[in-house]
Amino acid sequence: MELIDGKNLAKEIRENLKVKCEELKTKGINPKLAVIMVGDDKSSQIYVRNKSKACNEIGIEFEEFLLKENTKQEELINLINKLNNDKTINGILLQSPIPKHLDINEAFRTIAPEKDVDGFNPVNVGKLCLNQDTFVSCTPYGIMKMFEKYNIDLEGKSVVIIGRSNIVGKPLIQCCLNKNATVTVCHSKTRDLKEYTKRADILIVAIGKSKFVTEDMVKQDSVVIDVGINRGEDGKLTGDVDFDNVSKKASFITPVPGGVGPMTIAMLMNNVIKASSDK
Ligand code: NAD
Repeated sequence: MELIDGKNLAKEIRENLKVKCEELKTKGINPKLAVIMVGDDKSSQIYVRNKSKACNEIGIEFEEFLLKENTKQEELINLINKLNNDKTINGILLQSPIPKHLDINEAFRTIAPEKDVDGFNPVNVGKLCLNQDTFVSCTPYGIMKMFEKYNIDLEGKSVVIIGRSNIVGKPLIQCCLNKNATVTVCHSKTRDLKEYTKRADILIVAIGKSKFVTEDMVKQDSVVIDVGINRGEDGKLTGDVDFDNVSKKASFITPVPGGVGPMTIAMLMNNVIKASSDK
């Protein structure tokens, strides 16, 4: 079994981005990310702080726009439009979740596609479906980079994804299809889940249930990617995969923490540098 070390790969990517960022600055381009946060969700505050730290390390300018919990839809849309028109800003990210009274779909639709570093604007989602150059959402993109780094070829392989969220499962379908894999998507309504997972050459799990995937559900020598982040009562993080037992059977596996998580932020930084370079 080989461990897929996301922490180390993410570090390598961030170091390369730092060099690219310096090069852009010598050309007079000053990469900048704007992050909008609505309300005071505690987890979001941690995520935003981590994104700010990563920007600092690479040399990307970072500006946070904090809106109150009771913000009106019109105010949010006006802010996005203002940032769209601000030439000093290259990337715009709306931190989710946002309060329920707001329409997140309209907000994502409003972010200019060329500044949409999270890849959530329908234009960019459509481009991914058509296998065109675009901003790929950061977690799926990070997983594809892991496959590349570890020479895991997807062509002709059976890839099974558990979870169909807009941010992970769905864009992953396209990413894997674009690499010529045969893709199956399972979700909460799937019957006989094990029948699918047992046949997977590559199993990607994004559910949000601690240690849900057990050894009997995976094929011998398969590749297992664990996207899940679950915090136990003891504060410890676990993935969606029972790592101790599944790792005995897998050929490659990602740990939690230190697997997919660090790659997500690294790919966000990658997208900001891309947005700054494509101008
Ligand atoms: P989500 O919470 O929006 O949806 C969960 C998905 O799991 C749904 O599609 C649902 O159908 C499926 N599901 C739930 N129970 C199931 C079951 N018993 N059998 C089969 N499928 C089932 O998903 P999300 O936002 O993609 O998050 C999933 C997990 O990944 C969470 O733990 C989240 O914290 C984590 N996550 C991690 C990163 C990262 O950077 N590592 C990024 C995003 C999400």
